[in-house]
Amino acid sequence: MKTTLITGIGELVTGDASLGDGSALGIVRDAALVIEGERIAWVGAEGAAPAADARVDAAGRAVVPGFVDSHTHLVFAGERSAEFAARMAGEPYTGGGIMTTVAATRAASADELRTHTRRLADETLLLGTTTVEIKSGYGLTVADELKLLEVAAEFTPETTFLGAHVVPAEYVDDRAAFVALVTGEMLEVCAPLARWIDVFCDTGGFDEDETRAVLSAGVAAGLMPRLHGNQLEHGPGVRLAVEFSAASIDHCAYLTREDIDALRGSGVVATLLPGADFSTRGPYPDARALLDAGVRVALATDCNPGSSYVTSMPLVIALAVREMGMTPAEALLAATAGGAAALRRDDIGRLTPGAAADIVLLDAPNHIHLAYRPAGRVVAEVWRRGVRVRAAR
Ligand SMILES: [Zn+2]
Repeated sequence: MKTTLITGIGELVTGDASLGDGSALGIVRDAALVIEGERIAWVGAEGAAPAADARVDAAGRAVVPGFVDSHTHLVFAGERSAEFAARMAGEPYTGGGIMTTVAATRAASADELRTHTRRLADETLLLGTTTVEIKSGYGLTVADELKLLEVAAEFTPETTFLGAHVVPAEYVDDRAAFVALVTGEMLEVCAPLARWIDVFCDTGGFDEDETRAVLSAGVAAGLMPRLHGNQLEHGPGVRLAVEFSAASIDHCAYLTREDIDALRGSGVVATLLPGADFSTRGPYPDARALLDAGVRVALATDCNPGSSYVTSMPLVIALAVREMGMTPAEALLAATAGGAAALRRDDIGRLTPGAAADIVLLDAPNHIHLAYRPAGRVVAEVWRRGVRVRAAR
C-alpha cells in the first residue's frame, strides 16, 4: 500500500494525551507522520521517521486532526436570509421558520438536494471538516424524510433520523398523530438509512413525553439516541439524554446546576453550537462550567439555513474561544476528539497509528491561529482518508 511521509511539522496535534508534551492535545514538535492507504501508520519525531513512497514538506507549519462536525442539517433547499435580517432587526428566534425550509425541501427533487448538499459538503471539507453528521428533518413526510436520508447517506455514514424536528402544519391540531407517524411508519422506512435518532426537544419542538416516545421507538428500531435540547429555554433535554444514555445533548445554552451535575460522569457529550447562538443572538452556553465540572464537550456547526448558516469549524472554534471562555486547546480538542466522542467513534478526531488519515495542515506555526485569526485562511491543505483534497496554494 502506498505510503506518504509528511515531514517538517512544526507542531503536530495528535489528540492523544499519552503522546508528545503530555498536554490533552498530545503535541509533538518537529514531528513527522506517515500515511498508509486510508490510515495513519506512524507519528513521531522527524529524526526517527521511517522511509516512505512519497514525501510532503510541511515547512514548519502545524498539523491537526481533521475536524469532526457532529451536528449539521446539510440536506435542505431554499434559504432564509429575510428571516435572518428580521431577527437582526429585533425579532426573536422561535424555530417557527423551520416550516419555510420544509416547504422548499419537499418541493425539491433528490437531484436538486444532492447538488446543493455537494456544494455545502465541499465547502466544509475545504475548511477542514473530514467527518460530518447529517440529519433529516426538513421532509416530515415518510417519502420526504426518506429522500433526505438517501441523499445524506451519500455523504456520510453518520446519518440521523430527525422526523421529530417540528410538528408540520398539517398536524398542528393533532400532535399525537404526528408522533405516531414518526414512531411508526416513518421510523420503519427511515431506520435502515440512519445510524442515529434525534428529537428537537425544546420550546416549539417536542415535549418530554413526546421526546421519550420518539427516542424509545428509535432505540427499539436499532438507532442510537442523540438529542437537541436546552437551546431556547430550560427544559428536560439533559435529563432525557442521560436517561437514554444518549451519545450527545446538543445546544446546552440553558443549563441548570442540576443539568451539569447530571452530565458529569454520565458519558453524554455536551455538544455546543456557538454558530447558532451567534446567528440568533442567543446566549452562548457556559462552556467553562461544563469543562470545569469534567463534562466532555464537543463543538459543531449546526449548519442549517435558519439558525446557523455556518459551515466553518474554524469559525466555531474562534467563537468558542472568544465568546465562551474555552482555551484554544480546549476548543480544538472539542472540535476533533470531542466530536468523535459525540459520534461514539475512536478512529477519527486524532492522529495516531491506526486512526483515519484525516489531516489538516495549517498555514500557521501552531493551532492557536485557528482562534487567533478568525475568518482568515488558516486551513492550507486537507487529507481525507489519506487522499489530499486540496493542493497547496
Ligand atoms: Zn440542529
